[in-house]
Amino acid sequence: MPKKTAIIIGAGIAGLSTGCYAQLNGGNTCIFEMHERPGGLCTAWSRKGYTFDGCIHHLAGAGPASRYRAIWEELGAADLEMDFHEIFVRCEDLSRQQFNVYTDMERLGGHMREIAPEDGRLIDQFTAGVRRLSNFELLALPLYRPFEIIKIARDLAVLPRWMKISTADFAARFKNAFLRRVFGYIQYGMAEVPMGVHMAFLAGCHNRMLGTPRVDSLTFARAIEKRYLGLGGEVRYRSPVERILVKGGRAVGVRLSDGSEHRADLVISAADGSATIFELLGGKYCSNLIKAYYNNPATGPQPFAIQVSLGVARELSGEPSSLLYFMDNPEQIAGLERDRLSVKLYSGPPLALPGRGVMIISLDSTYEYWAGLNREPALYREAKATAAEKVIGMLEQRFPDLREQVEAIDVATPLTTERITGNYHGLQAWGPPGSFLKVMMGGLSRSLPGLRNFYMVGHWAEAMIGISTAALSGRRLIQRLCREARRPFRSS
Ligand SMILES: Cc1cc2nc3c(=O)[nH]c(=O)nc-3n(C[C@H](O)[C@H](O)[C@H](O)COP(=O)(O)OP(=O)(O)OC[C@H]3O[C@@H](n4cnc5c(N)ncnc54)[C@H](O)[C@@H]3O)c2cc1C
Repeated sequence: MPKKTAIIIGAGIAGLSTGCYAQLNGGNTCIFEMHERPGGLCTAWSRKGYTFDGCIHHLAGAGPASRYRAIWEELGAADLEMDFHEIFVRCEDLSRQQFNVYTDMERLGGHMREIAPEDGRLIDQFTAGVRRLSNFELLALPLYRPFEIIKIARDLAVLPRWMKISTADFAARFKNAFLRRVFGYIQYGMAEVPMGVHMAFLAGCHNRMLGTPRVDSLTFARAIEKRYLGLGGEVRYRSPVERILVKGGRAVGVRLSDGSEHRADLVISAADGSATIFELLGGKYCSNLIKAYYNNPATGPQPFAIQVSLGVARELSGEPSSLLYFMDNPEQIAGLERDRLSVKLYSGPPLALPGRGVMIISLDSTYEYWAGLNREPALYREAKATAAEKVIGMLEQRFPDLREQVEAIDVATPLTTERITGNYHGLQAWGPPGSFLKVMMGGLSRSLPGLRNFYMVGHWAEAMIGISTAALSGRRLIQRLCREARRPFRSS
């Protein structure tokens, strides 16, 4: 890296992180970002005095015990205040029966036994499993040294067993009808999440390694942008890259959509994987594994595809930060039947004025549904309005008079995400091809066959989502370049 110039495509968390570490190690970088602001998927937007957060539920590295903490310190985001919620999610039905998924395992076990004394053994298995997984930090495994992996091998060994069972399968084992109904969706309202993933999240919350920034996700991204600019980096917004220029098997620069060409020693893409490999590079540099990965995109309804955001003149301070609410009569929204709503709740500042609040409702959906409607823009707009209307109607069963209190409404679809972040069909990396642990350690496409001076970072390079994964991806690339140049790596 030393003294090299580099062009970075994309000012998401991966691009900004790459830029910071490159600057710290003597590089001279410029980020070209197609949007007008940093963050990519890590974003938020304002409507009528409310801020709608579009990203962070849980951040790895929120607490000092996490291995990611040092990275946020290096990137200038560690000073932001974090919340460590006592309740991961509250599940409720119309009868107001409640299951609080406490992040403290002692309390959770006691609470679950009160709800379902008949399921004592299953509850103990679950809470003991979470405790076991809290002996290490799953999301930070790439940061463990080999001898440390040996130390945690016994606890790590329980993970594959839990990865084989989904939350829905585990829920079916409860004798208690309420837990049987709600437990399957406790990870962000999603169905069929591997228990190992859910339990690793709960373990992280239990340990206070996972938390939630008190600020919105765009402010989080801006903190890293500030660090990057402070290190002498440059970002050019509204600058979509249209082509990566290659000469003699080496990346030599980029061409922007305005036709201008820019040269550098290295080109690093932190942008969408499919667009980078098949459009910006014309699909010329590709392995069979990479082709197979992109030929098998995630199909069916995707979680978080629709986000209905509401700004409400209502006091939400007595509510949990996350609510999973089950209804008796399902509603059709965006072509799918819904018997539950997963709601994130924010009370007062910084996302709303005192006495007001923000409700974020994420729904699964398909890209095709919205792309079909968008052939007639009026239909697309109408479908968005209908989705918001139905969500408000469902919420009113839990929050009486809500309709009159709604002051701002926004609906984002997969087309919105695709337009603003360039991610294929508004999707995120859809999980590793093959072994989870192997891809977690090795990534999918950190470089491409036959192409020198070119690298990829971010969720597509790693085939793993996560703000922390994106940040680590940039750090690792610069570490690698320093190693290759036989120079010490500087992180601060
Ligand atoms: C609803 C939602 C909730 C999430 N919740 C969490 C959470 O709680 N915790 C967590 O850790 N992670 C969460 N994530 C995942 C996390 O946001 C992503 O994994 C991470 O932000 C990916 O960062 P990235 O930099 O790799 O990619 P991106 O954020 O996709 O950034 C890519 C950037 O490249 C730019 N770009 C694309 N094409 C071009 C081009 N041709 N020219 C110039 N610029 C271009 C884009 O505009 C964008 O800024 C969530 C994601 C979503 C959508």
